[in-house]
Amino acid sequence: PGYPATRAPERTDAYWMPFTANRQFKKAPRLLASAEGMYYRDTDGREVLDGTAGLWCVNAGHARPRIVEAIKRQAETLDYAPSFQMGHPLPFLLAERLADIAPAPLKHVFFTNSGSESVDTALKIALAYHRARGEGQRTRLIGREKGYHGVGFGGISVGGLANNRKFFGAQLPGVDHLRHTLDLERNRFSRGLPKHGAELAEDLERLVQLHDASTIAAVIVEPVAGSAGVILPPEGYLQRLREICDRHGILLIFDEVITGFGRVGEAFAAQRFGVTPDIITTAKGLSNGAAPMGAVLVSDAIHAAFMQGPEEVIELFHGYTYSGHPLACAAALATLDTYREEGLFRKAITLERYWEDAIHSLRGLPHVADIRNIGLVGAVELESRPGVPGARGYEAFARAFHEHALMVRCTGDVLALSPPLILDESHIDRIFERLAATIRATA
Ligand code: PMP
Repeated sequence: PGYPATRAPERTDAYWMPFTANRQFKKAPRLLASAEGMYYRDTDGREVLDGTAGLWCVNAGHARPRIVEAIKRQAETLDYAPSFQMGHPLPFLLAERLADIAPAPLKHVFFTNSGSESVDTALKIALAYHRARGEGQRTRLIGREKGYHGVGFGGISVGGLANNRKFFGAQLPGVDHLRHTLDLERNRFSRGLPKHGAELAEDLERLVQLHDASTIAAVIVEPVAGSAGVILPPEGYLQRLREICDRHGILLIFDEVITGFGRVGEAFAAQRFGVTPDIITTAKGLSNGAAPMGAVLVSDAIHAAFMQGPEEVIELFHGYTYSGHPLACAAALATLDTYREEGLFRKAITLERYWEDAIHSLRGLPHVADIRNIGLVGAVELESRPGVPGARGYEAFARAFHEHALMVRCTGDVLALSPPLILDESHIDRIFERLAATIRATA
C-alpha cells in the first residue's frame, strides 16, 4: 500500500517540525515528494535542483538503485536484530569497510543513529577512556564558539550556538569553548583555507594553563564548521590543535558529520587537512541519507584501553536499540560501494577549482559580504538587513526554492551549498546562475 507521500497534507497541526518556525513555515510549505539524482520534485510537481545534498547527506545523489535495492532486500531478509549481546553480520562488515577508508589508527567503529548520537557517544568514550586508564579526573570537555555538534545534552554543551543552548538550562558542567575562527576583516573572500588565524589554536593552551592538563579529557571541533555558516580552519590551525593535544594527553575529536564521505575530496577531512584526530564522529553521508545512521571511529589506543580489563566485563555501558540496524547497514554498505565505484571521494578535488571560480563569480552582487569555499562546500554571506539579522538570508533561501527551483541552506544571513558529489560542471553553472538570480531578486 502506498502512503500519499506525493500530495500535500490537508492537516498540518499535529506534526511539530524540528528547527522550524512552524507557524511561519505552514503558510508556504516547501514539501518534497520525490527525488532522483541531482533533483527533488515538490508536491506541486516542480523540479528543484538539490544544491545541498538534502541536509549535507545525500552525497551519492538521490534514489540510487543499488542503495534502494539493498534496503529492500535487507527488509525482506532480516528486518531487525538485537544490537547487544547478540547481533548480525552486517555491522562487522561495515565497520571493516570504514576502518579501511579511515586515517590509519582509527580502526574501530561504534554505531549510532545520527550525528547527535555520534557526538554524545564520542564524548562518553573520551571520558570513559581516561577513567579506564586511571585518569578519571580528566573530565573537562572543550568545544568551540559557533560549533554545532547536534542536539544531545553533550552536543549542545560543547556546541557554541546560543540559540541551541539558551533554552535548555545549565547543561554539562566543566565545558569551555575556544574562540571560533571566522575573521571577516582579515580573511574576506579567501579561496580555500583562510591565511589568517592559526594562532587562535593557542586558546587551547590558555585553557590548559588555566585548568591544568590533568583535568581535560577532550577537545571537539568540526574541521569545517557547517551549521554556523561554513567556517573554515585557517591554514595550520588544526595542526596546532593536534600539537597542543599531544603535548598534554588530551584527546582530539573531529566532528565529521558533514565533512565525511568525500565532501572535501577525501573520505574524511582529517585526510584532506593532514591532521589525524583520536576520534571521528560521522553520520549523514555514511548511509547517503537513505536510512538514519551514525558512527564513531576510534583509534587503536582508545579501543585497547577498553579491551584490557578483566574478561566478561562489559567494556562500555552505552549503546542504542538501533546501533548497527540491518537496514541502515545495508544502505551504508551499498553507499560505500557506490562511492568507491564512482570515485566520488575524489570528485570534490576534481571539481574544486571550477566550483571555487563559480561561487566567487557572485562577488560584487548586491549585499554579498563574503564568499567561502573548500571541496564541494560553499557559502555566500549576505550583509544583514539593519536591525533584522537573518531576514535577508531567509528570504533568499525561500526565494531560491519557490522562484528559482534551487535548494540552498540558510543559517542567519549565510547561504550554504553542499551538492551531491555526482554533479558535473553544468550543474555547477546552473546552481550559481540560480543563486545569482536569487541574490539579485532579494536585493
Ligand atoms: N555534528 C555536525 C557537525 C552536524 O553538522 C550535525 C547536523 N547538521 C550534527 C552533528 C547532528 O547530526 P544529526 O542531525 O544527525 O543528529
